[in-house]
Amino acid sequence: MTQTAENLSKIYAYQPERFQTPSSETNPRLSVVIPLYNEVDNIPPLYHELSTALDALGDTYEVIVVDDGSNDGSFIELRKLFETDPHWRVIRFRRNFGQTAGLMAGFEAARGEYVITLDADLQNDPQDIPKLIAKADEGYDIVSGWRMERKEPFFSRRLPSMLANRLISRSTGVALHDYGCTLKVYRADIAKHIRLYGELHRFIPAIASGLGVQLAEVPVSDRARRFGKSKYGIMRTFKVMLDLITVIFFLSFSTRPLHVFGGIGLVTGAVGVLIGVYLAFVRLILQQGIGDRPLLLLSMLLIILGVQITGTGLVAEFVMRAYHEPQGRKIYVVREELDHEPGAQTETA
Ligand code: UDP
Ligand code: MG
Repeated sequence: MTQTAENLSKIYAYQPERFQTPSSETNPRLSVVIPLYNEVDNIPPLYHELSTALDALGDTYEVIVVDDGSNDGSFIELRKLFETDPHWRVIRFRRNFGQTAGLMAGFEAARGEYVITLDADLQNDPQDIPKLIAKADEGYDIVSGWRMERKEPFFSRRLPSMLANRLISRSTGVALHDYGCTLKVYRADIAKHIRLYGELHRFIPAIASGLGVQLAEVPVSDRARRFGKSKYGIMRTFKVMLDLITVIFFLSFSTRPLHVFGGIGLVTGAVGVLIGVYLAFVRLILQQGIGDRPLLLLSMLLIILGVQITGTGLVAEFVMRAYHEPQGRKIYVVREELDHEPGAQTETA
């Protein structure tokens, strides 16, 4: 037996009587998903605050922590929680795959009716969860936190975040004030429908709007990080801008790129051909030389461009097919999984 399997069997053997073992018939109502990377000091207060908030709510729940390749002993802490509290599940990645991959893994594993996302560093306040759930119960598919009185530094964090929020709202047509807030509630079917890669989790509301979901925003409190440090630097602003271009591209023409490229290509090509016809008229009917006319160059350029752009559209069309077809492709590799459900197994990928 491998070390992991041995540990797992030990853990499975440990079943305190006071806890009921959840089964697939009794899926919890709430699945809290927490991507976590090197947050060892935040885990005990996180457990305390989150459990207090969720127990008070009275709904059945599970907490899925996705350990995104931590190397500071976070996993050992998480295993302890898993061993003592059957609400807690842990998915451990083989390496650091990023916050987006963590969220995706959590969404996929979630068994609840609602999926709630939260940062592990307690910058979000678990006490805000009931407010978001109440809003979701009104019939919204995604309820997003809107951080009031941000605690982060103005120039390095809040200003770029403000500009990004404006720009994302403008260009995606989804009017949210705070895209960066991780505290969100999703209806599980929506969460499971979203497929992301890279660092696109900030754009989930925009991408989901493409699925036709109902969005709502609820003011939540923002707190300063107490332990550990942020995993992102100033480079994030540039990455977010580049991601925005990708998202706009995906939202507007991911399914029919040829309609966009082809449109531009046809217009360019047509103008080129018209100029060419005019030049042919000048040469053949008016019997004038056209060899030194800049228009000739322009005409040739436009025709070639037209063919190229249309061709690009066709290639994009194939790429999109290839992108949309292989569903179920994962963007992360799981090392092990701690789960109280009997069906769960250790991945040996
Ligand atoms: N995180 C993660 N993988 C990463 C980077 C971050 O799982 O590669 C987690 C991190 O542990 C935290 C959340 O994502 O729970 C948000 O990260 P962070 O607090 O560093 O971001 P910030 O609050 O500075 O925007
Ligand atoms: Mg944080």
